[in-house]
Amino acid sequence: TATTASSSAQPLRILLRVRPFLPSEAASFCVPCVSLVDGYPGSEVTVKLKDQYTSRSEHYNLDAFFGQENSVSEIFDREVSPLIPGMFEGTNATVFAYGATGSGKTFTMQGTEDCPGLIPLAVSAILARCTGTWCSMDISYYEVYMERCYDLLEPKAKEIMALEDKDGNLQLKGLCWTPVRSMEEFEELYSIGVQRRKVAHTGLNDVSSRSHAVFSVRVSTSVVKGKLNLIDLAGSEDNRRTMNQGIRLQESSKINQSLLALSNVISALNKNERKIPYRGSKLTRILQDSLGGSSCAVMIACLNPAEYQEAVNTICLAAPSRHI
Ligand code: ADP
Ligand code: MG
Repeated sequence: TATTASSSAQPLRILLRVRPFLPSEAASFCVPCVSLVDGYPGSEVTVKLKDQYTSRSEHYNLDAFFGQENSVSEIFDREVSPLIPGMFEGTNATVFAYGATGSGKTFTMQGTEDCPGLIPLAVSAILARCTGTWCSMDISYYEVYMERCYDLLEPKAKEIMALEDKDGNLQLKGLCWTPVRSMEEFEELYSIGVQRRKVAHTGLNDVSSRSHAVFSVRVSTSVVKGKLNLIDLAGSEDNRRTMNQGIRLQESSKINQSLLALSNVISALNKNERKIPYRGSKLTRILQDSLGGSSCAVMIACLNPAEYQEAVNTICLAAPSRHI
């Protein structure tokens, strides 16, 4: 079973998630490069890092470890489900999937037909809670690419402007929020958004791994509104080392910049700092109302079991101040 600390309204939780080997990888690797040795999550977790030649144990102060035998629904039950009651009291929350391309972010957030990810699982649980009450639910889905936002629920993934309101918060003007009353309605809408994410930005292939996809569910009761953001972040591989040119180089620097800005915000929240550097990127500015303050955030650091150096980089960036 997964190793988890209690998750009652902790402002920021950092989890590691190691996906199973794919059939193509299983032949050459039998031991994942990151595994749990032991530990008391919430205080200290010991993970074993293993490359081709060596194997060493490292201690991290992490909140949970989900290994290859753990399913996405276990992550949902332990980490996301506890955030839902708070939404009905007006609390916002954000769940991030962080990691390199191929580490399992989309599988975790979106899932497949046979194996629903955190997004459909959350929608289903929230719908169930709304049933028979006056509460209503609506959803939005947009992508942040090169510091610009595109609505995935609008035809042609329309660009939306982020404008500062009088309190200095960034608001997405004209973002489409669509009411959802059943899983059928959700599935129809969401699959359109998923499809748009794949085909947007004609001429550029695989933009999806280089953009952040932000899915939000909002519940409205007669008194309050609460929001849950579920975010599939851009791939965190070291874009500087891949010798990118032209548009790729511009993309890379924007991805690195926005993931670094997010990491800085997470790290400041983690240390309980008074000043949180939200202004570092479009994404952190948009999420300002759902990160820090009374909001809860869960960072899922996704790891490819066959990529040692990538795993080390991901752990160090997701949990920078947590290395003991
Ligand atoms: P990312 O979005 O981080 O680039 P994906 O979610 O696309 O990565 O995952 C990469 C591959 O690994 C995909 O083929 C996906 O189906 C598979 N995969 C990821 N996580 C799991 C899992 N928990 N169980 C089975 N297959 C997985
Ligand atoms: Mg993906």
